[in-house]
Amino acid sequence: SEGVTVAELAEALDVPANDIIKRLFLLGSPLTMTQSMSNDLVELVADDLGRQIKIITPEEENSFTFYDDPEDLKPRPPVVTVMGHVDHGKTSLLDAIRHTGIAAHEAGGITQHIGASQVEINGRQITFVDTPGHEAFTAMRARGAKITDVVVLVVAADDGVMPQTVEAINHSKAAGVPIVVAVNKCDKPDANPDRVRQELVEYGVIPEEWGGSNMFVNVSAKTHQGIDDLLETILLQADVLELKANPDTFASGYIIEAKLDRGRGPVATVLVNRGTLHVGDALVAGTSFGRVRAMIDQHGEHKTAAVPSDAFEILGLDSVPTAGDEFRVFEDDRDAKKLADERALKARIEEQNKVKHVTLETLFSEM
Ligand code: GDP
Ligand code: MG
Repeated sequence: SEGVTVAELAEALDVPANDIIKRLFLLGSPLTMTQSMSNDLVELVADDLGRQIKIITPEEENSFTFYDDPEDLKPRPPVVTVMGHVDHGKTSLLDAIRHTGIAAHEAGGITQHIGASQVEINGRQITFVDTPGHEAFTAMRARGAKITDVVVLVVAADDGVMPQTVEAINHSKAAGVPIVVAVNKCDKPDANPDRVRQELVEYGVIPEEWGGSNMFVNVSAKTHQGIDDLLETILLQADVLELKANPDTFASGYIIEAKLDRGRGPVATVLVNRGTLHVGDALVAGTSFGRVRAMIDQHGEHKTAAVPSDAFEILGLDSVPTAGDEFRVFEDDRDAKKLADERALKARIEEQNKVKHVTLETLFSEM
């Protein structure tokens, strides 16, 4: 059936399988190498071997929800993802937006790529999260998590709706995230922004001026026409959502991007969606553990605290987490370390199960 086999547990714990078989026998559960064990039995045997294991089912992990008193909730800035067909101008648009933001900021420094950027317009903040593909988005949606509050759908006015445009619409709708349409490349002589509007109607993305619920803005990432308008429209959309979070608690959120840096070790960009993250906090992200050694924003400036909707790079993790991983700060760093260890072990066991399943499924599917 489903559980971990004796052989797999032996491998995961790095002990001889015979040791486990012996202990199972003494526990009154004689099993052979290839037989699977119940989770309770796994925990019992591990305990017997002086190892602490708690098998956390996905249900148990997901059942852990944070509760906030409504009066602790404070307004927070929107988190936005730019999506759209290849070459329709996602990167150019983000550059134009960053330029606007930096100009308004007077900082003028070199913007580093950290997978997210925060801009300010009319004294209000917007956090843009880069989508390295749609996978992270889908993975996070599958976990019931909503990483973005608003999707900006970029459609080139000289090209119209294309396959990845439709894909982005489907992702957004499935995640229940509102779409603001940026009709891009309006500087081009063959631009036809009205045709884009007509084409999108077919996919249920209908302009407000036609009685629908989607806000549209004509822009040019090249000339910067309409960029301010787009940012203001995003804020209007955010106002409708009344975004709030409790900043006065231990931080949690998502890993947006992560890599191993030669000099700095594991570097991860975190997006805080609850609480405040401080330098020195003990956190777990997937199977990674660490104390936040430093927090750095997209301008390379060091930060001491990250509040909801902030996205900063953090240093201090013991390994590289996966984009899309949830992160959580623990009051006691021993609890954080324990959870990371449990997850690492569980991941190893799952990895081994996967090998087994693939073989079986391949076998059966070919019959
Ligand atoms: P992405 O694949 O969606 O990230 O698209 P890019 O930002 O890389 O843009 C694809 C191409 O379209 C590049 O050659 C850009 O210079 C060009 N481009 C992007 N936005 C505009 C625009 O507003 N006007 C014009 N004329 N060209 C644009
Ligand atoms: Mg691009």
